[in-house]
Amino acid sequence: MKPFDFVQPTTVDEALAAWEPGAAWLGGGTNLVDLMKTGALAPTRVIDVTRLSGLDRIEHCEDGSFRLGALVRNSDLAHDGEMLANFPMVSEALLAGASGQLRNAATLAGNLMQRTRCPYFMDPLYACNRRDPGAGCDAKGGAWENAAILGHGEGCIATNPSDFCVPLSVLDAIVEVQGPDGAREIPLRDFHRLPDDESVRETALEPGELILALRLPASGRAFAGNSRYLKVRERTSYAFALVSAAAAFRMDGGRIAEARLALGSVAAKPWRVSAAEDLLSGEVPDDDLFARAAGIALQDAVPSNGNGWKIDLARRTAARALRLAATGTPERMPALPASPFGQAEAPAHA
Ligand SMILES: Cc1cc2nc3c(=O)[nH]c(=O)nc-3n(C[C@H](O)[C@H](O)[C@H](O)COP(=O)(O)OP(=O)(O)OC[C@H]3O[C@@H](n4cnc5c(N)ncnc54)[C@H](O)[C@@H]3O)c2cc1C
Ligand code: SF4
Repeated sequence: MKPFDFVQPTTVDEALAAWEPGAAWLGGGTNLVDLMKTGALAPTRVIDVTRLSGLDRIEHCEDGSFRLGALVRNSDLAHDGEMLANFPMVSEALLAGASGQLRNAATLAGNLMQRTRCPYFMDPLYACNRRDPGAGCDAKGGAWENAAILGHGEGCIATNPSDFCVPLSVLDAIVEVQGPDGAREIPLRDFHRLPDDESVRETALEPGELILALRLPASGRAFAGNSRYLKVRERTSYAFALVSAAAAFRMDGGRIAEARLALGSVAAKPWRVSAAEDLLSGEVPDDDLFARAAGIALQDAVPSNGNGWKIDLARRTAARALRLAATGTPERMPALPASPFGQAEAPAHA
């Protein structure tokens, strides 16, 4: 590991003042420190933000929205009773991510900002446009199949690996940030960027901007009774998604009044599928409808690195997530198969 400065500010102003080009914010460290150990990243200064006061709160606001501090730990949010009652798919996605120990350390902002799991990015011996813009992409034509099938470009075929971000996209979450030029809000849908050519800019954050919180608008609570996050992975103990889907309905009688659908691990950002949502809205739920919506969700998919299997897997996962959502959110979060753990508190759906 290369030498670096280490600072521990206690206020947001101090943290912003400590930033310099080449610096990195440190949350739980579960992603950043790993990448520093392999040499994939070598910040000149590490700014530990975990002592900033007031950023570790889950606020249930009067207008029905929720404000989630950047430093809230993934496990604390997953088990918050109000979250389970109002935004159960967020809890389900968090509990499907990483391991219990990692979730206890990882922060919400760190999860949003975690880097891709492309193995060529994580190994500095390979050329990578994300590490070194213009260097090229050794992953292309390489041995890695879990690459993007949607929105990939000439310069990069990597995916965003976050589980948490997929339901956030469905719920129209908003990211609150502060930087040298003041505070601003970024819709989650615009937060992660698709690659263009060889200039791989991963998020909408400007240099020196710090995430302070996430907001979940009150409108998302209407989906609590019919929402699911479904993750397909190679092993249950912990593994990143091959593909995932967040599906949610606001029901009116026997019809879908409003539908939401997003796919995870298929692109460099959570992949919200408005065309499929439009097809579903106003209809009576049934398997044929879900199959057609899933077909629309994948209609623009193009394999990269020979991973055509992933398109079929994503289509089936989307259809199954829609079916599960139509059946209704379970009263208890399902335990992982073959796991003695994982039964969360029963949500009382709003
Ligand atoms: C073995 C393993 C398995 C995992 N499995 C999964 C999984 O299945 N699903 C999943 O979603 N995740 C998974 N993860 C990833 C894990 O969830 C992330 O490492 C974690 O969420 C990152 O949070 P952190 O607080 O530790 O971030 P850090 O490692 O501290 O930081 C990550 C990035 O966020 C930036 N950052 C941190 N805080 C801020 C802030 N306030 N503002 C702006 N930038 C900030 C850092 O500079 C860095 O670039 C896994 C990780 C490991 C090691
Ligand atoms: S796919 Fe993207 S992250 Fe992976 S090596 Fe190529 S440029 Fe880097």
